[in-house]
Amino acid sequence: MDSKKTPLTKAPRLDAREASDITKNPYKVDFSLLASDENLHYLDSAATAQRPEAVVEAQKRFYENVNANALRGLYELSVEATQLVEDARQTVARFIHAKSPREVIFTKNTTESLNLAAHSLGELLLKPGDNVVVSVLEHHSNFLPWQIAAKAHGAEFRVIHPNKDGHFTEEELAEKIDDRTKVVAIAHVSNVLGTIAPVEKAAEIAHAHGAVCVLDAAQSVPHMQVDVQKLGCDLLAFSAHKVFGPFGVGVLWGRLELLEAMPPFLTGGEMIDSVSEEGAVWAPVPQKFESGTMDAAGIAGTAVALHYLEEVGMEAVEAREKALVSYLYQQLSALPFVHVLGPKDASRRVGVVSFTVDGIHPHDVASLLDSKHVCIRAGHHCAEPLHVWVGAESTNRASVAFYNDKADIDALIEALTYVWEVFHGSK
Ligand code: PMP
Repeated sequence: MDSKKTPLTKAPRLDAREASDITKNPYKVDFSLLASDENLHYLDSAATAQRPEAVVEAQKRFYENVNANALRGLYELSVEATQLVEDARQTVARFIHAKSPREVIFTKNTTESLNLAAHSLGELLLKPGDNVVVSVLEHHSNFLPWQIAAKAHGAEFRVIHPNKDGHFTEEELAEKIDDRTKVVAIAHVSNVLGTIAPVEKAAEIAHAHGAVCVLDAAQSVPHMQVDVQKLGCDLLAFSAHKVFGPFGVGVLWGRLELLEAMPPFLTGGEMIDSVSEEGAVWAPVPQKFESGTMDAAGIAGTAVALHYLEEVGMEAVEAREKALVSYLYQQLSALPFVHVLGPKDASRRVGVVSFTVDGIHPHDVASLLDSKHVCIRAGHHCAEPLHVWVGAESTNRASVAFYNDKADIDALIEALTYVWEVFHGSK
């Protein structure tokens, strides 16, 4: 089973200009769930993305043709499963421009990657009097593990607050990061505001103080070209299910020297060189961090998802999503009963637009939109500190991927007008 030789996309390869024509949609054809129901308007890709047919097929092929435990058996099927995992490691490394596949660790999701990072860096670096810096924009997955690690090691937990637009200033970063900072952990792209954090700057300031910079890239890897070497960070986490891959697979990328110094997180099978009654010697990176049976089918599917994106072209994805977000922002802002959160400059947003509707609870908005086949998210989107900071208990969030089009956004706008009329009567 060679994922690279499988034809992956029926959609043509478009350049950035062609792809940004959102009145056309050449991409839906690859996504059976979307293609089978033209009335379905899926605007919740920030929660989980739809998978192209090629990814679904890759997993099916794995179970039908390979189905053995990777990294364990010496028989052909197991060797083949192992090879698929190692090929996928190379694909991920190439996709995010890592120096070596050994820098790629497979986990369950972004949450597990960040828990690994916080637990392990906590043990390696944190002492009483040190501090860890996060931002108020963080998803709970990049907030709680650091809060817990700081508490466990007697370190201070510091929170950066961006300006009202959701952007950090350099002064704020410089003020919070000091010589006792050991870790700076921030989201590359906010899952609520869609703002892009100044991660190169954050990494530069962190390094100037001898701290490590960790990025939660769950909302950036699906939408933009991510180059870990250019970003200058030390660790970076993302989930396959948001990058058009399967559920149950996450990635933690790290600089090799740092990963080698970090203690393991989960212990058990496959992550050791030897075990005795007295102790254990850990396996080399990345196996040191990959304890227990891996989801080899999911990992093979992840590689196919990234190959698929390479075929479609990340320039086309980025250009199309820019056009989609800009139109989404414009249309939502034009509704007098809707309040949009975050930056007014749509070109500084990635993927999501969160909003509230005057006097109508976000859960009611989302339920009524569902009756019009429009899927969006309602709640605090696992970012409660951010919601407290902006003064909203909960919000609605519409999010796009390159398989969306203008009609999806028009359907949302039309359905929002319907929701307003249900509650307030037509004008
Ligand atoms: N960080 C961010 C910014 C996210 O948007 C999400 C998912 N909503 C996560 C972390 C957690 O991802 P997962 O549930 O796949 O672990």
